[in-house]
Amino acid sequence: MEKKIMLDENEMPDRWYNILPDLPEPLPPPLDPETNEPMKPEKLEAIFPKELIRQEMSEERYIPIPKEVRDIYLLWRPTPLIRATRLEEYLKTPAKIFYKYEGTSPPGSHKPNTAVAQAYYNAKEGIERLTTETGAGQWGSALAFATRLFDMECRVYMVRTSYHQKPYRRVLMELWNAEVIPSPSNLTESGRRILEKDPDSPGSLGIAISEAVEDAVKNDNTNYSLGSVLNHVLLHQTVIGLEAEKQLEIAGVEPDIMIGCVGGGSNFAGLVYPFIRKDGVEFIAVEPESCPTLTKGEYRYDFGDTAGLTPLLKMYTLGKDFVPPPIHAGGLRYHGDAPTLSLLVKHGIVKARAVAQLDTFRAGKIFAETEGIVPAPESTHAIKVAIDEALKAKEKGEEKVIVFNLSGHGHFDLKAYQDFMEGKLS
Ligand SMILES: *Cc1c(COP(=O)(O)O)cnc(C)c1O
Repeated sequence: MEKKIMLDENEMPDRWYNILPDLPEPLPPPLDPETNEPMKPEKLEAIFPKELIRQEMSEERYIPIPKEVRDIYLLWRPTPLIRATRLEEYLKTPAKIFYKYEGTSPPGSHKPNTAVAQAYYNAKEGIERLTTETGAGQWGSALAFATRLFDMECRVYMVRTSYHQKPYRRVLMELWNAEVIPSPSNLTESGRRILEKDPDSPGSLGIAISEAVEDAVKNDNTNYSLGSVLNHVLLHQTVIGLEAEKQLEIAGVEPDIMIGCVGGGSNFAGLVYPFIRKDGVEFIAVEPESCPTLTKGEYRYDFGDTAGLTPLLKMYTLGKDFVPPPIHAGGLRYHGDAPTLSLLVKHGIVKARAVAQLDTFRAGKIFAETEGIVPAPESTHAIKVAIDEALKAKEKGEEKVIVFNLSGHGHFDLKAYQDFMEGKLS
């Protein structure tokens, strides 16, 4: 069997897979917090383009990927599916381990799969400028990259502490011509209100979302863009799983266990949703013990942001005011989860598992030592569970096929690895 299973460019999928028609029950609709009634699509047009609102609610099983988006995907897609032979040998497991590597994109993660699509639909509807928020900078850099390619302006409200502590992702965003504003800022009412009370506010994702949404609402040529959680975002990520389906077929294997890390659910859904109707596959969503949304949260309506500006979404949540400890997997520190993924967990179709930070870094180091790639701290959560499952298979002498998503590389996270090696992590 080949080490790396590659697809030709013309084998890249030409449509995304929409899970909405295949859910075990209809998805509870997003609610308007002002009326507690289902959100009217027209109301969302202040910040989203019509086509993305249509995709958000579509019941069509497949949605074509526009040629303009496919042309940009070709900069790094199709991505390789790699057999982790050296990791298997290290673990002495009979299991076959495969990983889909999404770190080959220019910003280094799966996030541009949706950023490019979102920039495209906004540009097509005459929008000239996008705003968003970013914590550690992964989503901000994906959107900066995507807007540059469509010649749009981009403003990223970056949580002030990260702006000062993580300068390299900011430089990356600025290289792609995005304007990066430390949040809270004095450019919005929400920001000024916070600064009046606390001029030294360190900021938060919730405040940054409020600023980005306000900016989009107040400027006609501007929309807002979100990097996870919503149905259309997860839809765009399914290009990952649709490619993996073809690659596993080429390898001549059927998956037994599929694994992904979960922040808002987009890279997990991207790999797993195209397989969800298959019988006999175990799907495992992995989250940090310190932010245990799926394993300890409640399934109920909650806001998507801290400030309470978004529609109410039915999902597993730790409560919008939950402040997770500052773990290094910044992309997994979110109080809620995608409504579709929450529904699948509630029905037991997807199993959730929480893992401890130190164990994930240990797994990440083993992976770097064997397969060579330094994984993003988020992705190490998937690796940790892949290793656990491979060791279980060894105990039972079973030849399981394990597939996980390697959502990004960790080249901007070396400080976290340094802290780990110096014994400074808890
Ligand atoms: C943002 C991010 C995640 C978490 O987000 P999801 O929407 O759950 O995929 C995971 N891995 C990487 C590398 C990320 O950048």
